[in-house]
Amino acid sequence: MAKHVEIVSIGNELLIGKTLNTNAQWLARRITSLGLCVTRITAVHDDVKEIATILREAIARNPNFIFTTGGLGPTFDDLTLTGIAEALNSKLKVDEKALIMVKKKYGDLAKKLAHKQFELTPARIKMATIPEGAQPLPNPIGTAPAIAIRHSDVTVFVLPGVPPEMKAIFENSVFSILKKAAGSLIFVEANLCVSGITESEIAPLIDQVMQNNPNVYIKSHPLGAEGKPEIELHLSTTTRDSEEATNQISRAKSQLSEVIKAKDGTTKLGTRMRNPEGASF
Ligand code: ATP
Repeated sequence: MAKHVEIVSIGNELLIGKTLNTNAQWLARRITSLGLCVTRITAVHDDVKEIATILREAIARNPNFIFTTGGLGPTFDDLTLTGIAEALNSKLKVDEKALIMVKKKYGDLAKKLAHKQFELTPARIKMATIPEGAQPLPNPIGTAPAIAIRHSDVTVFVLPGVPPEMKAIFENSVFSILKKAAGSLIFVEANLCVSGITESEIAPLIDQVMQNNPNVYIKSHPLGAEGKPEIELHLSTTTRDSEEATNQISRAKSQLSEVIKAKDGTTKLGTRMRNPEGASF
């Protein structure tokens, strides 16, 4: 069975519509492509109680991994680590490894800017103050380290909000852990663009093809305007055998094309198909 993952996006800017939650979308896509299953995405304010509550609720559902993004920086409203510590009944303390990471970042920056020294201000120490038992993960782009912390059977990854930082930490410190957890499971997807036939006409054809291919999930996504139907059909499967997965998707895709053509719809074949690493083939 695929491992379960929840994503918690933290930030006032997400809830007032200032920032599009691209981190959750990127993580969901990346995690799914590795063969794990994202079961829930939530967003909360930068508020200790809300962060702690959402974490406790997520832990109670017993996923294998929880990802949070946002609120790791030095400013007063970066409260994620306080919320996490509260949820896990753990204390915040300055972590030596995290402090070395922060010092090195500011030391390098001081050299680059030709400042003789940098100051270890309370705001900078804050970035190295993490829940007891947490492991700091280096941030190759920014200054605040991310963390990984285990609680019961759940591993919580706490990542920054700045998208390039979040992605770099994921690739450097998280990817290999998830890949190992996914085992031999892989995710394969393909799409097919259809025109000249409406979504309600396609619905029974999708049912028919899904019945013939029980491991393949097919979802229609309408793209066109009224009176000019254009639909993207997305096919996906998560299985243990890459060749079998590819065959199942190819078979379902050609069966779909045939039944759609028989209804006078047009399909654009040869569209992209992806393997678990996200590469097209
Ligand atoms: P820092 O304090 O170093 O900026 P941080 O971890 O505290 O890092 P935030 O302050 O929460 O991150 O957000 C930093 C930037 O990242 C903001 O510009 C914010 O809009 C953007 N950001 C935060 N969360 C997301 C998200 N879920 N998707 C896309 N962008 C995000």
